[in-house]
Order: sequence, then C-alpha cells, then structure tokens
Amino acid sequence: MHYLEDFMVAKEYGQQTFEKLVELNIAPTPQNFEIWYSWVSNRIPKLKKDLDALIASNLPYTENVANELYEQYFVSNAEASATVLEVGDRLQIQLDAMMENIASATADTSAYGSTLAEAGGQLAKLQDGEGAASMIETLVTATHKMQSRTAELEKRLEDSNNEVKDLRSDLDTIRKEALTDQLTALPNRKAFDQVMQNETARALESKSDLCLLFTDIDHFKKFNDTWGHQTGDNVLRLVARTLQNNTKGQDTPARYGGEEFAVVLPNTDIVNAEKLADQLRTSVKSKKLQRKSTGEDLGNVTISIGVAQYKPGEPVEDFVHRADTCLYAAKRAGRDRVICEGAEELGLVEDLKKGAA
Ligand code: GH3
Ligand code: MG
Ligand code: MG
Repeated sequence: MHYLEDFMVAKEYGQQTFEKLVELNIAPTPQNFEIWYSWVSNRIPKLKKDLDALIASNLPYTENVANELYEQYFVSNAEASATVLEVGDRLQIQLDAMMENIASATADTSAYGSTLAEAGGQLAKLQDGEGAASMIETLVTATHKMQSRTAELEKRLEDSNNEVKDLRSDLDTIRKEALTDQLTALPNRKAFDQVMQNETARALESKSDLCLLFTDIDHFKKFNDTWGHQTGDNVLRLVARTLQNNTKGQDTPARYGGEEFAVVLPNTDIVNAEKLADQLRTSVKSKKLQRKSTGEDLGNVTISIGVAQYKPGEPVEDFVHRADTCLYAAKRAGRDRVICEGAEELGLVEDLKKGAA
C-alpha cells in the first residue's frame, strides 16, 4: 500500500475503517479493508461516492460487489486513469495556446507584409527626401515591432514546448504505473492481458511455440492467518523475485491477482516450459523464510504450477483456461508440483512424479 498519510493519521483511519466494517457487518479481509480505508480517508472520492450510494440504497455489500469495486478502483488503477485524463487536459491546453500563438503570429506577419507592400508602392511615387525619411521611419518602427513580437512568440513557444516535454514524461511514468503491480513491481493483470494478446498474435504469425505457466501459492491463507498479512506480502514479493530471477529475455512473469502469478514464455516448447516451471517450484521451496524483525523461522512456502502450450488460433481465454485447469489439477494432486497439459503423451510423467516427491 502506498498511503501518504503519516503514521498517526493512518492509525486513526485504520481504526475507523475497522469500526465501519464491524458496523456494516463486512468481513475485514485485506480487500475490504483497502476499499473501506479509502472510504474513511476519502482517498478516492469517486469510490467514496459509490460506497455512499450503496449504503444509501441498502443493497447488500456482497463479495461480487467488493470484487467489482476492487477491480475498478485498485486493480485497473483507476487513479492512474484519472491522472491520465488530467494530463490529457493539460496537454490540450498547451496545444490550444500554441495554435493561438501561431494564428496571431500569422496575422502579425501578414500585417507586416502589407506595411512593406504599401511602403514599396509609395516609395516609387516619392518626390522628396522628407517623404522618404518618414517612410523609412515607418518601416523601421514596423520592423522593430515585428522583431519584438517574434522574440516574445519564440519565448512562449519554447515554454509550451518544455511543458509538453514534461507532460510526455509524466505520461510515460503513469503508463508504466498503470501496468505495474505496486506490491511486487511485476507487470500486473492489465499488462499480462496485453502481453498475451501480442504474444499469441506473434506466435500465430511466426508459427513459433508459446507456453504459459500459471502458479498459485499453496495454503497461503493459512500462512497469512499464522504470520500476518504483512509477512504474507513479503512472501508475495519473494515469489515475484524468484520468478523474475529465473526468467529472462522475452519471458514475462506477471502478478495475475492475489497470490496467483503467470509467466508468458514465447519461443518455448512445453518440455522446456515444464523444466522452467519445476526450477521455479524448487527455487521457491528452497527459500528459508524468516521474520525480518525477530529472525523467527517461518518455515517455507510451496507453489503449484500448471503449464499449457498455445494452440495456434485459439482464443486467449481458452489458452489461459487450460493453464489454469492444469494448475488446479496440480492442487488436487496434492500441491507443490507441476502439471503439464498432455504430460503423459510427452513422456513428462516421470519428471512430474519426481517433482511431487
Ligand atoms: P491453495 O493451496 O488451495 O491455493 O490454498 P490457499 O489458502 O492458498 O488458497 P485461497 O485462494 O483460499 O487463499 C488465497 C489467500 O491469498 C487468501 C488471501 O488472504 C491471500 N492473499 C491474496 N492476495 C493477497 C495479498 O495481496 N497479500 C496477502 N498477504 N495475502 C493475499
Ligand atoms: Mg488462489
Ligand atoms: Mg493459494
């Protein structure tokens, strides 16, 4: 979480959030806590409005409602979207100002052109030196005016240009944030969806292999219940780091949601995907967990992994669903193991049995 309130304020908000949850008879899960903390602190005004409307309507606050709100305001990073809109508005203002400057410069230039043309016409008819002197004076004045107008315009365009550059860099940052999971710094669900769209299209076009790993931490609820959510969060970071450290190049590990992660593996066949999955499984399992503050031994966690290979042309959802089905087969088979789709035909069964041992 990235709240900016200082400790005392956060503590007060935390207590109020808890009281509100109890008052409304809502389970104080991390998700509900985050949603109602935002209500108490009014950190996301639109979410507060939605919740107020919900309270006023007396409609039940079901798990579905909670999931939808969470998806809308936290997972899809609506705050970032709002900032994107705001930056978009600022950009529009700068562009409008530039267009206005250019339009007024065009008008000035054409007025200056007319002065010159007029002077040229009159010059031909001039009889005496005095007339010529006053004509030259008019031209000098018009030229000076034009010069200072041009300098002023250049300055304004430069300012606008700098502002646009800043906005572009803000937008880049926002774009990155909108695609990054805040807890683990891995690509988030939205980024995963984009990568899957791109990679399935690429695999189809170049007739290359593409595999997907789906992984979920075993008995994580129990871990959280035993050691607390903050320690649970550290485990999520650890798993994320393990995925990151064991993949490279075009591979994309992502946080799919909660304690589920995915790894997209372009140019990788199922045999190699299975090997990598097993390497990830053993790597996570080998980590001895310790509470940072006290050094207390927390044992270890294990993960289950499902592996599927892309069938050219199939919808992305089907591909994801097959990897997910393998993951749940791994859970049912006892956890701490890798299950590959079509493992038996591929002769991977022995490896899987070893993995499960
Ligand atoms: P299984 O082996 O079947 O996967 O059991 P499980 O307990 O891991 O599965 P379940 O889906 O019942 O529980 C998932 C838990 O993950 C529940 C929730 O408390 C925890 N969780 C999800 N997201 C987060 C998070 O961001 N931080 C922490 N600390 N826990 C999370
Ligand atoms: Mg789960
Ligand atoms: Mg789990």
